Amino acid sequence: MLKTSTYEDLTIYKMGRSIGKFVPYFVHAFLLEDTLIDTGTGFAGVEFLSALKGKKVNRIINTHYHEDHTGNNHRIQQTYSAAILAHRDSIPYISHPRNVKLKLYQKHIWDYPDGSKATEIEDFVVIGPYQFQVIHVHGHSAGHICLYEPHKKWLFTGDMFCGVRNIYLRRDEDFDRMLSSLEDLSMLKIDTLFCSLKGVVVGGGNALSEKIKYMRNLRSEILSLHQKGMPPGKIRNKLLGREDLMFYVTGGHFSKQFLINNILASQYGKAPVE
Ligand SMILES: [Zn+2]
Repeated sequence: MLKTSTYEDLTIYKMGRSIGKFVPYFVHAFLLEDTLIDTGTGFAGVEFLSALKGKKVNRIINTHYHEDHTGNNHRIQQTYSAAILAHRDSIPYISHPRNVKLKLYQKHIWDYPDGSKATEIEDFVVIGPYQFQVIHVHGHSAGHICLYEPHKKWLFTGDMFCGVRNIYLRRDEDFDRMLSSLEDLSMLKIDTLFCSLKGVVVGGGNALSEKIKYMRNLRSEILSLHQKGMPPGKIRNKLLGREDLMFYVTGGHFSKQFLINNILASQYGKAPVE
């Protein structure tokens, strides 16, 4: 499934795998002038190429190497001879996607991308009249970048935003590193976020501040309950509730308990005892 929309000079492609009439998860790719920011999922590849017909794609920038951001790298690079730019730590996985072992749910929703040839992105990128700062961010994946255009006050966030109140943490994420990168990003003047999950977030600076406030509060509540002697499982139930469908569908990859444990481990230097 693929839907196309526009926002100012951007064309936005929202896509996901259709399972019958149901699309379990969406991801967005953004075309600005001749540059595509991320390439979505291979399951929507045929529709995506057809939607791109008549457009110029000279360049792809990957915010990071995850399979739902690089899924059509190969076919677009082949079709348009497009250069691919990414952070150097993402490049080995973009070249060899099967070096990342996907979970079953990831294979079903996104699948492995084909390998593509990327080169290291510089600190600044010019896209037509737009000048982007490339910002290396942490906590979601290795080699993740955000793109900031100071005149438009635009921030392309990849998977660093994904909504204000996240109650799960991926097993390969780090809550404190993510919070620290988001705090750095919040120093920028931001009007609009372009989020891989949520699409265009108008009032993005406020949304980012709300997310930081939520994360700081959650962190301090977790630490305070732990100091009062509450076990991690009970802290989870009190603040986030029991594990739910997300945990079971993803084979435990997205977990409320992991969020609690990750914060306690960062604070105390070891995983807490249940
Ligand atoms: Zn990701």
